[in-house]
Amino acid sequence: GQKVVLITGCSSGIGLAIAVMLAKDEMKRYYVIGTMRDLKRKDKLVEAAGDAYGKTLALLTLDVCSDKSVKQCVNSIKDRHIDILINNAGVGLVGPVEALSLDDMKQVFETNFFGVVRMIKEVMPDMKRRRSGHIMVISSVLGLHGVAFNDVYSASKFATEGLCEGLAIQLMKFNVNVSMIEPGPVNTEFEMKVMTEVSKKEYAGADPETLNHFRTCYLPTQVNLFKGLGQTPEDIAKVTKKVIESAQPPFRNLTNPLYTPIVALKYADETRSLSVHTFYHMLYNLGGIMHVSVRIMKFLSFEWLRRRAISPT
Ligand code: NAD
Repeated sequence: GQKVVLITGCSSGIGLAIAVMLAKDEMKRYYVIGTMRDLKRKDKLVEAAGDAYGKTLALLTLDVCSDKSVKQCVNSIKDRHIDILINNAGVGLVGPVEALSLDDMKQVFETNFFGVVRMIKEVMPDMKRRRSGHIMVISSVLGLHGVAFNDVYSASKFATEGLCEGLAIQLMKFNVNVSMIEPGPVNTEFEMKVMTEVSKKEYAGADPETLNHFRTCYLPTQVNLFKGLGQTPEDIAKVTKKVIESAQPPFRNLTNPLYTPIVALKYADETRSLSVHTFYHMLYNLGGIMHVSVRIMKFLSFEWLRRRAISPT
């Protein structure tokens, strides 16, 4: 029969795209429960889903930061039966660590890490009992390597990766799969929300030199990477669907092949210095120069493929 899929954070971006793609599956293999904090924001999803809305797509309220909301939502689902849980809700935070408040940092962990914990605690016991299920997390390449000025966001994704790596091992005994999806830059509201924050904040507490690095090296690099390498939410939805439909879903899944070499660099050198130094050069020596980091990523990827004797496209 149909698989029940619950997705968090569906009012925009990647969550919306996954909900639409699964709900529009030609073979109607999925019954999608698209959730969001506030159903007043449902219009974009409903419009994108078209005919599927009311048939293979239902909407429910869910705030991953609230125990009560998570419980209420899952209890309202028939037999509490969820085959596939997609943890997508997430928030960003950039800036020099010394200029960010602990409250802001805790909010990032509350959503990106404890939000995932809360969902898993509610859904996993039923999956274990049924001896079937698939837990997915929209993590990030920043769950695999740190990037300057994205430290806390990256830490929240590392935390989630660690949580899920342990669970993946445990859950193999129960025939429950765990998969991480690790996108690089994706053009959604996410980056816009972060950039709006940046333009409003003064980052008091950071010295002028650090702030200068942040504004003249980090921010332009970021903008270039999103413009030059950014994927669409649909690209991420495609990878997610492929992982769901794979006979043996892989644990880690990069969505952007241009990130394969830079992620592999970290494991190519057991001290990890190689990847730290590469990011250092990209940020300070080349970051401010238009599109250089994009070219480096493309060059690395080209070399990577060439050495594997696969013809790059
Ligand atoms: P987005 O801002 O469009 O989507 C995030 C969604 O999560 C929003 O709809 C937001 O309302 C929702 N959300 C936030 N807090 C919530 C809460 N407490 N409860 C329920 N929903 C909540 O951005 P996106 O790019 O689609 O982000 C989706 C996921 O992808 C996030 O986990 C993000 O970390 C991850 N990601 C994004 C990028 C990128 O470049 N955009 C890259 C890698 C990973």
